[in-house]
Amino acid sequence: MAERTFCAELTGSFSTSAGQNPTVAIMEAAFADAGLHYRYINCEVPPESLADAVRGAIAMGWRGFNCSIPHKVAVIEHLDELAESASIIGAVNTVVIDRSSGSPRLIGENTDGQGFVASLRPVRDPAGQHAVILGAGGAARAIAVEVALAGALSITIVNRTPERGEAVADLVDARTPAAGRYLPWTPHLHVPHGTGILINATNIGFHPHQDATPDVDMATVDPQTVVADVVANPPETNFLKAAAAQGCTTLDGLGMLVNQALINARLWTGRDLSGAVMRRELEGIFGI
Ligand code: NDP
Repeated sequence: MAERTFCAELTGSFSTSAGQNPTVAIMEAAFADAGLHYRYINCEVPPESLADAVRGAIAMGWRGFNCSIPHKVAVIEHLDELAESASIIGAVNTVVIDRSSGSPRLIGENTDGQGFVASLRPVRDPAGQHAVILGAGGAARAIAVEVALAGALSITIVNRTPERGEAVADLVDARTPAAGRYLPWTPHLHVPHGTGILINATNIGFHPHQDATPDVDMATVDPQTVVADVVANPPETNFLKAAAAQGCTTLDGLGMLVNQALINARLWTGRDLSGAVMRRELEGIFGI
């Protein structure tokens, strides 16, 4: 019989406000399902305490941690190395503390966009596609870079504030093989012909403003287009309902959340956990 240990392997998250983040529930459900003696500790960490929190994680032997708002850029100065896409995106949501060479090395990854691409692949291979992304914030930036690195031909960024939209389009153009373009968000946006993937990466439709929907003329969306929403609460947004009514295949924000958590778990444990267990847990949380 294996010797029993009363010390779990530790992972977790640093953010504020941490209380709204459901990731702890899905990680702990999946760890338990896999029989892994791991914990995920959701920590409220204000900006002035980030450095101490990172030092604490190293001192306590943590395997790694997530960084959410407002630490995704600030954490970079505490790391030893950045993975390729995290370096292009300029933000980190997952840190691996690698002790394989003796002393701890902190490696920053960005799995937001990778989680999106993993949820997209079963319904549409991004390779050779023209993608349109609504929004130019952190989620849009991560998705734009990963969809581009996954082989998309072009990424068109549509954003309310032109400067932010142009910056993401320029980043894609300069740092990935895809063409990056900016398209101003004119009223009742006409989605360009030939768009294979349309993604809402804004906050529009997020609880408690679930009646809001991005201003897009859905009649211009081809039924062959895969339409995705990053908003996870509620999972069935008005945007996705309108796309489904148009005959499009849709992807909700839970898929991105689950796939990102699966990638994080693989980085920390080396194991593939159950996405079904995570999704069930989220559906319970959101009452669907
Ligand atoms: P940011 O604040 O960085 O960016 C928000 C974006 O939404 C900006 O482009 C902003 O435009 C746009 N926006 C907000 N309100 C409006 C509006 N009324 N009209 C037009 N545009 C608007 O946020 P994030 O990128 O970090 O997050 C965006 C969403 O993604 C959130 O709902 C978040 O919960 C979700 N998310 C989901 C994940 C998942 O796993 N499902 C993972 C990460 C994020 P502008 O530049 O003009 O201000």
